[in-house]
Parts: sequence; structure tokens; C-alpha cells
Amino acid sequence: MGSTIFLNYLTMHHPMEETIEFCTSCGRGLGEGSVVFACPNCGAPIARCNRCREQSIPYKCPNCGFEGP
Ligand SMILES: [Zn+2]
Ligand SMILES: [Zn+2]
Repeated sequence: MGSTIFLNYLTMHHPMEETIEFCTSCGRGLGEGSVVFACPNCGAPIARCNRCREQSIPYKCPNCGFEGP
């Protein structure tokens, strides 16, 4: 008892160790052709689905607010 809550706390505060499942730009689930890369500014993981890549929809880092193409 208590360890589960502690693990949830760790996961919530360490987004780097989480697997990204949704596009950072549009929030859709990641499918074929999607990419996950590190934010150029802070290194946080950013994901983009193939739709956002093709349409060059800008992303915004959820961690530091960095915006890029
Ligand atoms: Zn997307
Ligand atoms: Zn960032």
C-alpha cells in the first residue's frame, strides 16, 4: 500500500520516461508515419502524427513552450 501512489507520482513528474502515444500538435493517436523526437530547446519528447508532418502543422513543446516547424 502506498507504493502505487508513489509510482504514479514519479510517472507524472518524469514525462521523459513515458512513451508518447498522442500527437503533440493535434492530440490524435500516433499511427504509421508518425515521429517522436526531442524538443530542440529542452529535450522533452515531442510526437507528431503523419498528418501534421505532411501539413507542416507547427508543434509546441508541452514542457517549455518552444514552437517549431
Ligand atoms: Zn497530429
Ligand atoms: Zn521543450
